[in-house]
Amino acid sequence: MHEWSLVQSLLSRVEEEARKHGAVAVRRLEVSIGELAGVEPALFDSAYELFRTDTLCSNARLEIRYVPARWVCGQCGARVAEGAALWCTGCDGPARLAAGDGIVLERIELEVP
Ligand SMILES: [Zn+2]
Repeated sequence: MHEWSLVQSLLSRVEEEARKHGAVAVRRLEVSIGELAGVEPALFDSAYELFRTDTLCSNARLEIRYVPARWVCGQCGARVAEGAALWCTGCDGPARLAAGDGIVLERIELEVP
């Protein structure tokens, strides 16, 4: 499953970060998942439950923030409504995706002795 490999690489990134700071454990993780990232937050969450055992994240709470897709005009920056044609109604510029297409590790809370 797609989510499994994402969670595994997330965990190894977090572990790397934790070791760099001399942490003994991770307390909390905050991840944002974009609407168009192609990831099911529920699956991501259950994959995390599965893989965090025996890692520094074994007691870390995972918080997932769902980020809706947001389109803006590439020319004037105006918001382009979702569901409408992906063109700016003000200046006819092409819309570009401003948010909602990625998975971002927003925050790690470490336990440092
Ligand atoms: Zn525009």
